[in-house]
Amino acid sequence: MSLPVGPDFGFGLYIHWPYCARICPYCDFNVYAAKDRDIEPLAAAIIADIHAHRGRLPDHPPLNSIFFGGGTPSLLSPHQIERIIEASNDAFTIAQGVEITLESNPNDILSGDLAGWSAAGINRLSIGVQSLDDAALSFLGRDHDSESAQRAVSRAQTVFENLSLDAIYARPGQSPAAWETELLKMLRLGAPHLSLYELTIESRTAFGKRAARGELVPMEDDDQADLYELTQYICADQGLNAYEVSNHARAPRFESKHNHIYWASGDWVGVGPGAHGRLTMNGQRIATEAAKRPEDYIHATSGINTPLTQLDTAREFLAMALRPVSGLDLQRFEALFGQGPDPKLVAELARNDLAHINENRLILTAQGRLMADYISGRLAPY
Ligand code: SF4
Repeated sequence: MSLPVGPDFGFGLYIHWPYCARICPYCDFNVYAAKDRDIEPLAAAIIADIHAHRGRLPDHPPLNSIFFGGGTPSLLSPHQIERIIEASNDAFTIAQGVEITLESNPNDILSGDLAGWSAAGINRLSIGVQSLDDAALSFLGRDHDSESAQRAVSRAQTVFENLSLDAIYARPGQSPAAWETELLKMLRLGAPHLSLYELTIESRTAFGKRAARGELVPMEDDDQADLYELTQYICADQGLNAYEVSNHARAPRFESKHNHIYWASGDWVGVGPGAHGRLTMNGQRIATEAAKRPEDYIHATSGINTPLTQLDTAREFLAMALRPVSGLDLQRFEALFGQGPDPKLVAELARNDLAHINENRLILTAQGRLMADYISGRLAPY
């Protein structure tokens, strides 16, 4: 039997644009200060990489999704975006009605050529609002304030219907009442999709170093869990149900098709410095990682291609499939692991109101989604 992962479950293209106007102290992505560097060589290298991938994937289907992430890809000009999309179409063909997302910062939306982005092919905008509280935005090191974020959303709405806002909560000292006020304000902006992430403090970031020195105290886990539950309640009450651990949409058509490829263990090509991809060829799943430093990537330094064992693939499938509310397909689980999940463990999850089975899918409850990583660790056979 062929591996039940790969392009039959979706095929996307992720483009990592690593430059940012300034580096936020919590950011753990592969990012570099934009300064006034010439970005054209990197755009050209990305286009060359897209074509090189086609050579490796002659039998892959047309793309279902393109995602410009970063970093700050809204620093690209409409012409550069257009050339990258054209190269994607030349190499792989873009299926009809494909979602093409651009991650953006509020300041770029206020000064950017939105009609140009749209004409280039962008049809979904994800805006890094992060907070609507000026003190919090300053703490997060953002270069916009609440008022400019709100103006940016209004401006984006004149061109894009499919809009997502990112926010970061569970910040040190944030009270439930303060988060409720902020979240309701964000919901009133009217975007049909929200991605709401708890602040995580990674050791190699500026926040991580401050935390190690005791200058920043992360929120306690129990308090974070309370804010997560409050988030689920408020969003559902306002018509933006959770369809995944951190993602909420007003209707299924606004759910991120690109992220669904990740959660379904489809294939995606990752281009741009440090981009990760997953490719399935001849029954073998391969994890790809492009050269991290932009200079290396531009000079076509090879990235790393790691063949994944079936157990690696199965564990990754499990961890991703538990995240969306559609849950884990038990037939695919069995095909990958050679057995179903431990019935005693499934019964325990149901007893504790963490999961239930519906139509041969194991679906986590809201409380279970809060512990998705822990549950996937326990469900994986050794
Ligand atoms: S703008 Fe986004 S990608 Fe860039 S440093 Fe800040 S959080 Fe990271």
